[in-house]
Amino acid sequence: MAFESCLFCLMFLLAAGTLTGTLYAMWVSFHEQEIRAIWRVGCAGVLLTLFFVAAAKTGLWLSLPLVVLTFCTGMILWLPWRQRKETPSIPVRCIDERDTIFSRSHLEPGSERFDSYYAANPEKRSLDDGFRAKPGLLKPGSRYFDPHLFAAAEASFSAVAALHSLAEGTPHSQQKSTDALQITALIKQWGLKLGARGVGITGLQDYHLYTHLGRNEPYGQEIVREHEYAIAVTVEMSRQMLDHAPYAPAVMESAQQYFNAGAIAVQLALFIRNLGYPARAHIDGNYQVICPLVARDAGLGEIGRMGLLMTPGLGPRVRLAVVTTNLPLICDAPGFDDTVLDFCRRCEKCATVCPSQAIPYGDCSEKNGVRRWQIDSEACYTYWCSIGTDCGRCVRICPYAHADNGLHNLVRAGVRRSPVARALAVWGDDWLYGKNPKPRPFSGLRGYQG
Ligand code: SF4
Ligand code: SF4
Repeated sequence: MAFESCLFCLMFLLAAGTLTGTLYAMWVSFHEQEIRAIWRVGCAGVLLTLFFVAAAKTGLWLSLPLVVLTFCTGMILWLPWRQRKETPSIPVRCIDERDTIFSRSHLEPGSERFDSYYAANPEKRSLDDGFRAKPGLLKPGSRYFDPHLFAAAEASFSAVAALHSLAEGTPHSQQKSTDALQITALIKQWGLKLGARGVGITGLQDYHLYTHLGRNEPYGQEIVREHEYAIAVTVEMSRQMLDHAPYAPAVMESAQQYFNAGAIAVQLALFIRNLGYPARAHIDGNYQVICPLVARDAGLGEIGRMGLLMTPGLGPRVRLAVVTTNLPLICDAPGFDDTVLDFCRRCEKCATVCPSQAIPYGDCSEKNGVRRWQIDSEACYTYWCSIGTDCGRCVRICPYAHADNGLHNLVRAGVRRSPVARALAVWGDDWLYGKNPKPRPFSGLRGYQG
């Protein structure tokens, strides 16, 4: 009799917990304006609650297996499983910035630089003629051209460019003595105070650096490693703005966050130079390092299917900047995270929604000594040039890019622990939010935060 009462109480607790969880999930979805998720989670939660109540009334024969089943499911989803170990991927060959799509997009047809680049790389000529035939990023004639919103994005990019002059400079003539542990803590805390979502430190390696300058002068100059440490900074991109991707708000947000990340990096570099140590900020348009690789090695995340850094709390919904320096610092452990790679293997959602089919399906393969997915950057950039924005559909729909709140963090915690939770989360994301949800129409910035 006592056992039956206990079981009844457990069933009641299960029903109450399910109902509370359902209401919380509906409340979160309401704030995220996810109408489909509100209905689906509401209906499923109420049905499950009623089922628990009905089972409690039938007595022992159904309640007992249900309690055992619920307990086992919870264990399977929550207890940490042994992960498949990936070998940390280190590129064997460094990348020449002149070969990147952004550098190639700056080549002026008819110029000597243009002619000599394509004479040395004839296979890239027809690919690049594809994006040159389109109106271009932020240009009139592009599909989502909006004179006001594009002007706002352009202003943010101009503001980033204005920061370039502060990226490098001469350190203070008197070097202040520092303790590595204390100054590392201060730099991280100050970076977060300035608005960063993550600050990580790694030893600067040759493979972090481009081999030659491609977007800055002197074009083609060899890049030599001068610093020992790299500080990587992430800033958050607004979920609200990205909900409109690929429309103009996506590129407004990209540009603004490039500026925010750049401003933080420039201030950190100035701070370090004031201490008497050399430091260089690597920000949009003046990188000498490959930011996602540095950020991964600095413990801020893993690189996923779309080739972007996947951070634990915001997924790919971040922008990056880096400061390189010789100020002695304490490095973080690298962010090699097998669970992200496993999730990406199962998910493929970004590949499905990509309008230019630039993101590969299937497993990753070895390229340049690294097991990774490689996106078709020409296809992606050509699409940008036809619509006028930097698209961002892949970032918007990534299941890791949901808001940083209790509900999604609970899912993220399960995903980090259990392959079953990962499989369920991939399916659940499609079921709740749709496999290819439509971009939200944009009607103004009233009520937008961040
Ligand atoms: S959408 Fe899916 S496959 Fe693409 S990066 Fe995000 S988790 Fe990985
Ligand atoms: S930004 Fe757009 S076009 Fe480029 S990879 Fe992402 S979804 Fe595809």
